Amino acid sequence: MSADEQHVTVDTDDEVIAALAKGVPITWFRPGRPRTAEVMRDIAVDESLMGEAAARFERFAPWFASAFPETAEAQGILESPLVAADAARREIDDRLGVELPGQLWLKRDDALPVSGSIKARGGFHEVLEYAEAVAVEGGMDAHDPATYASDEFRERAAAHHIVVGSTGNLGLSIGILSAALGFAATVHMSADAREWKKEKLRSHGVEVIEYEGDFAAAVEAGRASAEGVPRTHFVDDEDSVSLFAGYSVAALRLKEQFAERGEPVDADHQLVVYLPCGIGGSPGGVTYGLKRVFGDAVHCVFVEPTAVPAMVLGVRTGRHHDIAVQDIGLSGQTAADGLAVARPSRFVGPVVDPLISAFATVSDDIIRAGVGVLAECEGLEVEPSAAAGLTVPWRAVIAEASVRDETGVRDEADGAAEVSGPSAAGVPWPLDGSTNHLVWLTGGAMVPVEERRRYVTEGVRLMSLIGDEDPAPVSFID
Ligand SMILES: *Cc1c(COP(=O)(O)O)cnc(C)c1O
Repeated sequence: MSADEQHVTVDTDDEVIAALAKGVPITWFRPGRPRTAEVMRDIAVDESLMGEAAARFERFAPWFASAFPETAEAQGILESPLVAADAARREIDDRLGVELPGQLWLKRDDALPVSGSIKARGGFHEVLEYAEAVAVEGGMDAHDPATYASDEFRERAAAHHIVVGSTGNLGLSIGILSAALGFAATVHMSADAREWKKEKLRSHGVEVIEYEGDFAAAVEAGRASAEGVPRTHFVDDEDSVSLFAGYSVAALRLKEQFAERGEPVDADHQLVVYLPCGIGGSPGGVTYGLKRVFGDAVHCVFVEPTAVPAMVLGVRTGRHHDIAVQDIGLSGQTAADGLAVARPSRFVGPVVDPLISAFATVSDDIIRAGVGVLAECEGLEVEPSAAAGLTVPWRAVIAEASVRDETGVRDEADGAAEVSGPSAAGVPWPLDGSTNHLVWLTGGAMVPVEERRRYVTEGVRLMSLIGDEDPAPVSFID
């Protein structure tokens, strides 16, 4: 924390904050949120934002198809598969001794082309938006994909500089795409960033500057280096509308993917989406998009490590960017390096707060165990951050069962795991077989194979902790 940061006093009487401060895994259900349509009426985001970002990706699709041949088959549209995960669901059902009603899905952003993480959505969008501005300034046709392959554009781009601060994946996305368009790029990396990400970037001709400090220190250094410098664009992960816009496009694509599978998303078939959260940009942008597309039929759950619950702390206290996890005595350290952000975004929290249906925190051991489950059951090798949400769908079912036990509320259907009618535990979505659960896998494909294997070995060893967690997760209702 910088010396000029104000000392923050925290309401330790608040039960959620008290549990967070102790490092207990929590689920905070928020049933009393206003209707989506009502929130969208007053939201501080331009209504055209998602559509414009989607159009920008479409304009650049032919350029992607030729610059990155692996995207040619999909005509240069960068998208990830949606897959069912029945084996993982059965495995976790068995380990927890609780059946998850409804289907479990995975959104495979770990396999997004070019940069292998969800950052390809937001990060690429911001670089493309800047590229268009540079083209316009040079009197070129910004909407013609051929512009970006021209010598004229590349000469101009080489005189422009893109700068970003990152724990790793954002830097990777920004760096790779900047270099491909001919921009000079510098990535300021925090101590959490993995060595291979730095090497990868350097191999693309990107300048990497390393810091001893955390993400905030790297961002500050990046911001300061870019301030007032001509032809220099700083990608500000703490405050960027362009990143947010890029992430939101995922919702339009997901709508098509569910439609192609004949899976409705509506009041009778609700969708719960579990999003790993660091600074809040990617889950925030995706949530905004999903709520625009599906309205009240979708519920977004933000998932953070128990040692770095930055977003939930910011929202719960209402202080957003003005509070950090160290202010409640937490370390801010996690094996989920993509989520190692101690202070949430300045912009996202206040905007999406009323759209978030629940928050969850998960211990590092359970996050890593999730990597094991995905490898064993689904043959997928992801990075730890990506697995954060995997066990969270069961939390609502367990919370509901325990409230019903305590209060003596009995299910009509004898012994059935299905619960009908309003949730006694305040869970905002139906706890029956009509609900689809989607765990967003946020990164993995770029991780070098030896490192991936290490994550998997470790994860498989920790799988026995699922169902035997200490301390057990605790739930709260608004
Ligand atoms: C960045 C990242 C996240 C979280 O995104 P934020 O915008 O920081 O909240 C989740 N998973 C992975 C793999 C990431 O790289």
